[in-house]
This record gives sequence, C-alpha cells and structure tokens, in this order.
Amino acid sequence: MFPTPVLFERMFTPLPDKPDHPTLEEEILELWEREGTFEQLRERNRGGPIWSFVDGPVTANRPALGVHTAWGRTLKDVFQRYKALRGFDQRYQNGFDCQGLWIEVGVERELGLNSKREIEEYGLEAFANKCRDVVVRSSDALTRGSKRLGQWMDWGTDYFTFSDTNIEYIWKFLKNVHGKGWLYLGHRATAWCPRCGTSLSQHELTQGGVYQERSDPSLFVRFPLKERPSESIAVWTTTPWTLPGNVAAAVHPDGDYGLRESGEWVLASLFPEDTFVRHAKGSELVGLHYEGPFDTLAPGASVDHEIVPWDEVSFEEGTGIVHIATGAGPEDFELGKQLGLPVLMPVDEAGRFYDDYGWLHGMSTIEAADQIVGDLRERGFLLEAGTYVHNYAHCWRCDTPIIYRLSDDWFIAVDEVRPKLLEENAKVEWVPEYMGKRMDDWLRNMGDWNISRRRYYGLPLPFYPCNCGHLNVIGSKSELAERAIEGFDQLVELRRPWIDRVPITCEQCGEQVSRILEVGDVWLDAGIVPFSTLGWDNPEWISEGYATGAAKGLTKADLPDHAYWEKWFPADWVSEMREQIRLWFYSQFFMSVALIGRSPYKRVLGYEKMLDETGREMHASWGNTIKAEDAFAQMGADVMRWQYCAQPSDRNLLFGFGPAHEIKRKLLTFWHSIRFFVDYSNIEGFTPAWEQLEPDGELRPLDRWLVARTQQLVADATKAYEGTVTVDVIRGFEAFLDDVSNWYIRRSRRRFYAYDQAAFRTLWYALVQSLRVMAPVMPFLTDHLWRNLVTDGPSSVHLAPWPEPVEPDRAVLAEIAEVRSVVELGRQARSSSQLRQRQPLRRLVVAGASPVAAGHADEIAAELRVKEVEFGEVEASELRVKPNLPVLGPKLGADLREVRERLQRGEFEQLEGGRFSVDGHVLEPDEVLVERVGREGWAVASDAGVTVALDTALDDELLLEGRLYDRIHEVNVLRRESGLEITDRIRLWIPDADLIERYSDRIAAETLAVAVEPGELRVEKT
Ligand SMILES: [Zn+2]
Ligand SMILES: [Zn+2]
Repeated sequence: MFPTPVLFERMFTPLPDKPDHPTLEEEILELWEREGTFEQLRERNRGGPIWSFVDGPVTANRPALGVHTAWGRTLKDVFQRYKALRGFDQRYQNGFDCQGLWIEVGVERELGLNSKREIEEYGLEAFANKCRDVVVRSSDALTRGSKRLGQWMDWGTDYFTFSDTNIEYIWKFLKNVHGKGWLYLGHRATAWCPRCGTSLSQHELTQGGVYQERSDPSLFVRFPLKERPSESIAVWTTTPWTLPGNVAAAVHPDGDYGLRESGEWVLASLFPEDTFVRHAKGSELVGLHYEGPFDTLAPGASVDHEIVPWDEVSFEEGTGIVHIATGAGPEDFELGKQLGLPVLMPVDEAGRFYDDYGWLHGMSTIEAADQIVGDLRERGFLLEAGTYVHNYAHCWRCDTPIIYRLSDDWFIAVDEVRPKLLEENAKVEWVPEYMGKRMDDWLRNMGDWNISRRRYYGLPLPFYPCNCGHLNVIGSKSELAERAIEGFDQLVELRRPWIDRVPITCEQCGEQVSRILEVGDVWLDAGIVPFSTLGWDNPEWISEGYATGAAKGLTKADLPDHAYWEKWFPADWVSEMREQIRLWFYSQFFMSVALIGRSPYKRVLGYEKMLDETGREMHASWGNTIKAEDAFAQMGADVMRWQYCAQPSDRNLLFGFGPAHEIKRKLLTFWHSIRFFVDYSNIEGFTPAWEQLEPDGELRPLDRWLVARTQQLVADATKAYEGTVTVDVIRGFEAFLDDVSNWYIRRSRRRFYAYDQAAFRTLWYALVQSLRVMAPVMPFLTDHLWRNLVTDGPSSVHLAPWPEPVEPDRAVLAEIAEVRSVVELGRQARSSSQLRQRQPLRRLVVAGASPVAAGHADEIAAELRVKEVEFGEVEASELRVKPNLPVLGPKLGADLREVRERLQRGEFEQLEGGRFSVDGHVLEPDEVLVERVGREGWAVASDAGVTVALDTALDDELLLEGRLYDRIHEVNVLRRESGLEITDRIRLWIPDADLIERYSDRIAAETLAVAVEPGELRVEKT
C-alpha cells in the first residue's frame, strides 16, 4: 500500500520541480560537442540510403539570428534529424547569401553614403571589402545562433554565394542561355528605385513589405482641346511628376463620354451626379488634339498631343480618360510602342528631372509634386487637388517609393521554356498543395526575367557587347584568362572593380571590348546552388574547391565532381517560406529547367508568415520584435521549436512569449509524469533493460492499452513526419501526454506505491518511446531525459534508431477512448451542477455507451467519485426542442407560431432518426435545436449519442465523506509545503473529531500517518 523506504542505489537522477530549459540546453550542447554525437550519427548513416536536402541560403547581412529565420531553420533541422534517425545518409551543407542590395544598403548606411556617386567616391575596392566584412561578421553570428537553436549542420563547410566558383557557375548558365538565344537587351519603362539607382524585377515587387499604404496627391487636370476652344478633356493622376512627360491621352473607343456644363469631357458613368450638355462615344473624340500640361517646357512643346484609343481604359476609377507618359509607366510604354508615340524621359537614375525640364531641373519626383500642382493651378489647368490613400510599391530594400522610368536592362526570355517549366512543376509535390498552384500561376503569367542591376557588390554579368554588333558572353574564369587583354593578373575576385579592368578580344572582329558595368540579380546567386555546390559538370573533385574568391578562408567546402552531383541531385526536399515561390524556389527551378530540363527538387514544404502573438506584423519601431537570443534565454530553444512545429503551414505563425508559456505548461505535465516515474523507481529500485524495451509478461488491460496507445503515437508521428506535417506530431504528442498523465498514471497510482513491476515497465516503455518520437522537435529536452531514463542503451536519443511503427490494437484504443469520454461527460455534468470535484455522489447513469464501456464501471465510478455507475436509459433528463428558425420559418410559414408554442409546451412526439412530430408536421433533424436538460436533482451532459446523468442529491453521509477528502487534500498539501519526502511517515493532528472517529484508517493511509490525533492541523515527521 505505501512505498517502502528504500536502501537501493538510485537508478535515476531525481528531477527538480520544473525544467530549466536554457541551462539544460547549454549542458546538452556541451555533451554533443564532447561526445561528437552528430559525428557518430553521420558515421552510422554513411553509405545508407540517400535523402538529399539542399539548404536555401540565408542572407548574411544581419547582426544576429532572428526568430523568423529560426523558424525555417527549425523545420529543416527537424526533418534532417528525423531522416537521420531512420538511417538516411544526408548532406548538411549550410548556405549564406552574400551579394546584392541587401548587403550594399547595409554598408551604405554604416558608412553614411547616400547615393551611387558617394559610393564611387568612397572607392569600389574599399566598398567591396566593407561588404565582405559584413558577410564575415554576419555569417559568424548566424552560425552561433543556429547552433544554439540545436541545428545540426556541417558548420565550416558552408557555401557562400560570393565565391568565384558560384559566380563561374552562373556565367556558365548565362552562356548556355545565350546559346539558346534567350538573352537580350530590353528597352522599356521599368520599376525603378531612385535611391538605389537601379531597376527592379517583377519578382522583387512580390516580396513581403513591398506594398505599403501611402498617401499621394490626387489631381484632376484639364487638357484644353485645340479644335474646340471652349472644351477640354479631364484626366486624373496620383503621380504629378509624370505630367511633364505627357505625350497623349487615351479614351476607351466604346465609352460613353459626356461634356459637363463647365466644359470638360469625362466618362459619364463615373460621374452620375453631373449633368451633361452633350454625349459622345470615345471613338468620336479620338484624333482631337490638345494643349499639353507642360508645353511651357521644351520636351512637352516638342510633342503633338493627341487623343488616342485604348481598350484598357478603366471604367472603375479616374475620369475614363488616361494621361499617357510613355517614359514613366510600363503600360504607357507598351501603348506608345503600338501607336508609335514619342517617348519622353523626365528623370535620371536618381529620380531627378533632367536639365531640359527647365525650372524642374534637379528636383526629385517627390519634391516636384507641390510645385507642379501650383504651376498647373496658376495656368488654369487644375480642376481639383486632394490626397489619395492607396497601397503603393516601395523598394524592398530601402523603402523608397518605386517610380517607373525607361531603362536598358538585360533579360532572359521565358516564353520558349515556359511549357517545360509548367510540366516540371506539375511533378513537384508541394506542401501545402495550394503553394504549387501559386507557382503554376506565377510560371504562366511571369514576364521575361530582368537580370541586370546597376549596382556594385554583385555577380558581374559576363557580357561584352562589341561595336561590331556581336555580344561576347564569357562562360568561365579560364575562358576569361584566355581572352583577356590585360588586368587578369590583378583579378583579386570575380567582382567589380577588379573585373572592370579586364577587357577582352571580340571573338567576331578581334577588337578590344569591355564588360558592361551591370551586376546580376541576386536570385541568380541562390538559384545556381543545386549545381555549383554539388559539382555539376566538374570533371575532377577539388578539395576546398568551392572556397574561392571572396569565400577563401571562410569555408572548407569542396567542389565535388559530376558523379557526386548525379548522386545528390535533385533534392528530395527543400523548405522555405511562401514568398520564396517567386524567389528562390523559382530561380533555382528556372535555372535547372533551362540547363538540364528537370526540376531541382522533388518536394517542397512552404510556410506562411510570422506575426507577433496578437497577429500584428513585427517591426522594430513598434517594439514587438523578439530577438532570438532573448527567446533562447527566456523560453529555451525546445520551446521555440515546439512553437514553430505546432504551426499549420497554411496559416501565419503568431509567435511570442504568451504561446511559449502555454507550451511550457504542457511540457511541465510531461516532466511531472517522468518525475513521478523516476521518484517511485528510485524508491523501489526498479531497473529497466533497454534490451527488453517492450513490456511483456503479466500485463493488465490498462497496461495493454498504454502499449497500444504508445504504438499509436509512434505510427501517427511517423506518418506526420513522412508527410512533413509537424503540427500533427505535436497534436499526437499532446493527446498522448494527456492519456499518460490523466489516465494511465492517475488510474495506476496505487500500483506504483505497491511496486507492481508491470506498471513500471509499461510506463517506462511509453515514456522512452515518446522521447524518441519527439527527439527531432525537442532535441535538448528529449536527450536530457533519455540520458536519465535509458542507462544501458544508446548514449543519446539521437543515436537510437527510429522506433519501427506497428499497427496498434485499435479495439483496445477505442474502448478506453470511450471510457475517457464518459468520464469527461461526467466531469462536465458535475461542473454544470457547481458541485466540488472532491464531493462524493451517489449515482451516475450512462446511456448510449457501448457494452465495452460498461466493463469499466468501477474505473468510471472512481474517477468521478460516485458510489455506483448504471448503464441504461437516462430518465433524469428532459428533452427540449426549439425550432431552427432560419430553416423552419420558410417551410412552415404561418404555421410556425403554433408549432413553436407546442414545442415549448413539450407537445411533441419523438420519431426515429432524430425527427419530431408536432401538430401534424414532421420536423427533420436540421430543422430543430435539441437540448437535454437535467431534471431537478440531476446534472446531465451529452455528446455524440452518449448521455450521462449525475444524481446531485447529498445526504449527511456524502457530506461527511466530502469533508474527509478535503481534509486529506489539505494534509497532503501541508506535507509538500513542509518539505517532506514522499516516503516520510508522519504524526498528524486534525481538528475534526467526527472524521477521526469514522475514518481514522483511511486518513492514515492516504497521508502516510502513523497516528492521527485531534488538535489544530499539524504534521510532524516521525
Ligand atoms: Zn532602394
Ligand atoms: Zn566585334
């Protein structure tokens, strides 16, 4: 009955009240390091089946790991760990993205540089070195953070996209694409960041944070018609700076236009309040000429402004007449090309007006707005000026509002490869599925890929256009060496400024030709990774061959040979957040299909965005961002990882300390279950053996149930991991935890006090298996507990193989699930009656449960503290039926009132199948709302066809027993608070004479008292 005081040597280390996650994690990190746990794991799996994962590079521009990045890293680590437990041989190469605007803008801010001119004055060589410094510092900090998170990677053999090798692979790709005839120099109006001084591609505008709410001027402007002196056309614009670039005005040929009394033509339907003196179809206005808004300036004066037809004119907003500035809008530019309109280009690379724009010269597009409005007003062109709030695109890197301007950019044409892209994408397995559909949409609708940027720290595009008309494209460093005229010896890295000093000989005419100054889109850098890091097309393995150029000294990564690429390509799995569909998922996919006609990955896990715990975006200026280092210190990495894994990938993650607190509470239940096991095992000297993990021998039904329940956990978790659905792993574990703690241990407590070996063995098995299942998600806590619970098995949970899933005994599981649901209903009924949990009651009646549940009447009675449990009809409840008005109203019409009143009076008959008969009407189940209410003296609860009724009547006997339980509880709290061990015997004093007289033995038994005496409440260790 009681635990016997013990003299065995302790088998297990006793656990404190609660886990100290950060401390425990640091200890485990040290153990892994000392024991070479990760090395051992890789060694064990070497030569096993292959599971190929390719890491998407993290940009090495941040001073520390962020909680956003930690999310993706956790998912990658979870599945790599899982696959390793299953014996798969894997690559663990981490990647850093090292070039492009991300890095440049950070360095500009650090150095206080504000324009491209200032960068050039600072010196490109010094600037390049500064950029590399940022990458060195940041990659170091990110590595530290990732290790702390528990991510197992081959740190030190990382790939850095600024390596010469990576750049050479992109050159090879570009030469290949040029060979196919897809490379061309385009001239068009394109999205442009005036601060960064470069065009931006279509996919850069799809990144998060690009569209931000913004208030812009809203102008209605009149253009006087030359042929009709008293008439003009009205246009609407939110970008006043484009008006000096106006060349035409477009109307919809089929639009119904009206002439206002005040003399302006507008689309009639957009101004329903106005009265019109005349109507005309758009086509009747086409060909009329007007005075341009800025004919006072030379460029405007040079244009013959005319009304043109355009089918794309919107009937939804504006005036139905569109101001066309061919040099300042992509659609305008395309229309101008079709109609042969002149092109005006008002602003330069920095977004400032050119000198031929007179008094506007040197002003930025934003500075000019007010002046333009004032000037138009003065000259009588302005009809109305206000403000307009809309979502407008901003530069993803520096937050400057985007403008459109004419630019010459290098493009890769996509039309020819598009069908193959679609075909290959259809073979990829996307999780969640809708992300694959998004990729498909993107592939169908995307335009040609703008790959050139007018910047400095990036992949140098190897394009050497010659005056003879020939475009030389260099495909490798050795080809450059062969054709270089000078400067090759001084080539420190394949990078500006050094490469700009290496002219080559034109292969067509033999003349000297220079490289264009542009660098490449950063997504080329990351997109080539499945080729550059795996040694595609490389004849011979080169040790540390990837550590070239800027990457020299930062990594020991090899450049493998082509056979290695054959082995590891394509990736079995890649994972990043959703916005990468049009970025990294896309760029590597495009490059791979273009080069070899195949997708670089078989399966993708995408996930949505991270917000703060209240659902807001995280912004440093709002004070709601969380630093990873703070999260490590306050939650611990395991709790963070749980939070990431508990997130369904199709919804935004609301991350924070609140949810972390909830998770800690759940983990505490787990901790206490293990602590319970450890304490009693130490008392009894229980010694489990790893060799006999699964319990056998004399098992009770409850033990057999826990064995099946554990098998179910393993089977469900295996399925979830295989499907890359981490949330199902967490859900499965939570339910398991509840079953172990709130059913198995609760129901078996006395067997542990009495040293029933079967209970110990069964619980040990369940706990050990659950540690193995959760090891990928919580690598620290599970290993810490494993090292305590399994003393003669593998030294780390991460070195134990994955438990083989077996089909559990479903009948046993269903039986206990039903018993638990009856108990749950009993608790609901009790809480609806406001009676205390500890108050014993006379009777519970259960209706609708299957016969197997009846076999557990004793357990149900004990759990619910009732004297007897009957299975049969519940007459203690009353059926209440109400009309479901939205459904029944239309059906019954005028009869509704009568039916309703009869239902209220209980004048109805219950029919088969949940139907009711009332006043000659038959009501279907969906037409009524049914409720069961306890009759006086009964508390009733009901769910899924099972109803329980609890007799709530109390007599003196029950009340006395209720007081007994309260007192026992109070004494046991006092025992704990007095610091007594669970085995300590006590002398006890309590004030209740009647309890002592009647229940002295029970009180003694439940509190480990050797004597119970009357007096003020007090305990004393004997
Ligand atoms: Zn910018
Ligand atoms: Zn030439």
